Amino acid sequence: MDRVIVVGGGLAGLAAAVALAPRGFRVTVLESRPRLGGRAGSFTDPATGQLVDACQHVSMGCCTNFAHFCRTVGVEKFLAPQPRLTFVTPDRRRSVFKADPWPAPFHLGRALLGAHYLTPVEKLRVAWGLAALLRESPDADPPLREWLTRHGQTDRTIERFWGVVLVSALNETVDRVGLRYARKVFRDGFVRHRDGFTVHVPAVPLGRFYGAELRGWLDRHGVEVVENVGVRRLTAGISGVELRDGTTRAADWYILAAPFDRVPDLLPPDLAVDPFFAGAKELTPSPITSVHLWYDRLPLDLPHAVLVDCLGQWAFSRGEVAPGEFYLQVVVSAARPLKGLGRDEIQRRVVEELARVFPSAARAKLLRAKVVTEHTATFSAVPGVDRWRPAQATPVHNLALAGDWTDTGWPATMEGAVRSGYLAAEAVLVRAGRPGRLLQPDLGG
Ligand SMILES: Cc1cc2nc3c(=O)[nH]c(=O)nc-3n(C[C@H](O)[C@H](O)[C@H](O)COP(=O)(O)OP(=O)(O)OC[C@H]3O[C@@H](n4cnc5c(N)ncnc54)[C@H](O)[C@@H]3O)c2cc1C
Repeated sequence: MDRVIVVGGGLAGLAAAVALAPRGFRVTVLESRPRLGGRAGSFTDPATGQLVDACQHVSMGCCTNFAHFCRTVGVEKFLAPQPRLTFVTPDRRRSVFKADPWPAPFHLGRALLGAHYLTPVEKLRVAWGLAALLRESPDADPPLREWLTRHGQTDRTIERFWGVVLVSALNETVDRVGLRYARKVFRDGFVRHRDGFTVHVPAVPLGRFYGAELRGWLDRHGVEVVENVGVRRLTAGISGVELRDGTTRAADWYILAAPFDRVPDLLPPDLAVDPFFAGAKELTPSPITSVHLWYDRLPLDLPHAVLVDCLGQWAFSRGEVAPGEFYLQVVVSAARPLKGLGRDEIQRRVVEELARVFPSAARAKLLRAKVVTEHTATFSAVPGVDRWRPAQATPVHNLALAGDWTDTGWPATMEGAVRSGYLAAEAVLVRAGRPGRLLQPDLGG
């Protein structure tokens, strides 16, 4: 039986392992942390012992490979589809965004018309801009902001419509992203299929989500998971992996599923400078800040809210998580402007904002808080970013790459990570002489 070493137990590495294990490969996953799930993970709150997500993660209906992975390992039951989203502005007005029973792309027409934070003329501008965006070639990737301005968008429509959707979806500001992934978000999420836009929220912390069921599946399929074991480097000629403790391990196939900023150090020096792999050094990171708040009563009368014209973009309420403690998380994507503010100031601004926007938050007493910033949350989807994203099948026969940053056609998401893992597994299958299709079709595809 062929042996495979997967370096990195994030979603990309796990997806590769889950794809190969039932196909006659003996898989070992080497993970440097004491847990699986990578960036989609939880920490244990020292104050209470509660499992808290480093940052709330959500998926969407269009994320077909992520859904397939969840079904395969038996954690789909933890995903709660949210057919209604509530958009809230600082004046406390709300609009509900939900689909009508009409075929795509008309299913969301009435929801757009009902958006209280856009004037009728702005809605026309947005509709015009959307139609033009969808007519663009899938490969066109000019700077988005200039393109939007050329297509009738104003600062207000950019702030209140395009920015609201894209900053969360791409973890980058409209000023910095390219058109390609903006188009993908609107096409796959809102236009192509009526279920594409449905947000799926894990009903349990991510530490639980990627927990017992996943481990049980890996166990049953003979996948060896070794945590707390950092790989120092792949050895010359990709003949093995050297661990940080000085020992080595060898296999027939290697899948490097580490984040882009770790990859150059993990490759043998000759490969790190090879043009195929060198793109990893050109990718730039974009941070996400999450503000965790525990109140003495329910601060938000909704499970989640999209915040328009606010510092935070999404608020997620988990209700009472311990006797007398109600947990709320606010996510600030593309959090570069927060740099240098300090945790106390970020917390103060977010708590003040919540009190302004939600009467229930104004009445609730804050018990404690935690601000977490992930500085390398995702790569930045700047114009032309794909030229730096390598394919999963590398020029080295027994080495494949996986990771949300590799060439998946998707932005950095759980879907992108799972796709990369499946594609890396496909590359191994081809080279092992047993080609197979693992990538799942798009919704309605
Ligand atoms: C704050 C935040 C919020 C996000 N929100 C969302 C969201 O709502 N929806 C969504 O779809 N996506 C979201 N994402 C993106 C999503 O988390 C990532 O795209 C996805 O988890 C990446 O998976 P990956 O396996 O490619 O990388 P990672 O999760 O980074 O996994 C790589 C793994 O490799 C391990 N590793 C690194 N070096 C070594 C080494 N030397 N030896 C052994 N192991 C090593 C790491 O410990 C890690 O476990 C968010 C990300 C962040 C940070």
